Amino acid sequence: MMGPPGSGKGTQGVKLAERFDNPHVSSGDILRRILASNENSELANAVRIIEEGKMVTDEIAGAIVFRELENVTGFILDGYPRNVRQAELLDIYLKAQGNRLDAALYLAVDKEELMRRLTGRLTCENCGETYHLSLEPPRRAGYCNNCGSPLIVREDDQPDRITVRLRLYLERTRPVLDYYQASGLLRKVDGIGSQEQVFARCEAALV
Ligand SMILES: [Zn+2]
Repeated sequence: MMGPPGSGKGTQGVKLAERFDNPHVSSGDILRRILASNENSELANAVRIIEEGKMVTDEIAGAIVFRELENVTGFILDGYPRNVRQAELLDIYLKAQGNRLDAALYLAVDKEELMRRLTGRLTCENCGETYHLSLEPPRRAGYCNNCGSPLIVREDDQPDRITVRLRLYLERTRPVLDYYQASGLLRKVDGIGSQEQVFARCEAALV
């Protein structure tokens, strides 16, 4: 699953995983889980360098994702690969497992719509749940439905930061899209519409 921030990739990934009875393997979730754990492996310690503001290398990013893929045959992979090197590492890993990707699904949403969705995003500082001021407001204004904690606008969700995030995402992702286009795996899906409409398109692109 690929798609810019605000494309709905995470939500659709979870739904597709249910539909195809496959695990939803999200690199972001894995990283958060390792950071919250007291796992004392070489890998976990390497992941903790992100907390010091450094990027994980492509090899480490690969290793933490591949560990999750070891005992599964099918999966919906979300948040990885982020660049061509990671895409190549994934191909090498899967080939060694006697496996391969069936499709690289890209949820396409234009920049104006992404700005509209991302501006106004609220995050629960406590549990991480996200809301939207107008599109998906919490039941009680300013407070989390799950845990009742106050909601904040993360620094990353300020309009000027959103513009930068989207630009960086598109710059980094274009070569990955080209990579999957060249191997015939790319399925571009229109990400505008209701969750159900977009899901139906994703499903149709995969069967
Ligand atoms: Zn919460």
